[in-house]
Amino acid sequence: MPLDPSTLSRLARALATTQPDEIACDECFARMDAFADLLLSGKPAEELLPKIHAHLQRCPDCKEEFESLLAMLRATG
Ligand SMILES: [Zn+2]
Repeated sequence: MPLDPSTLSRLARALATTQPDEIACDECFARMDAFADLLLSGKPAEELLPKIHAHLQRCPDCKEEFESLLAMLRATG
């Protein structure tokens, strides 16, 4: 079945606005403790959990949450 022009332009818009590697805040939130564990144990957290890292770079809310988690983990050892 051939695609008509309006379907094509809809598809093109969807592709342009969707980044396949993006995750939502809830997923980031669910895994940020793992990310923090890796970081604190000296492992390459950015490489092991690149999606979490990317999300933290562009989401101030999660970044703030992550910073306080990190501070708490450091305080409790
Ligand atoms: Zn977020």
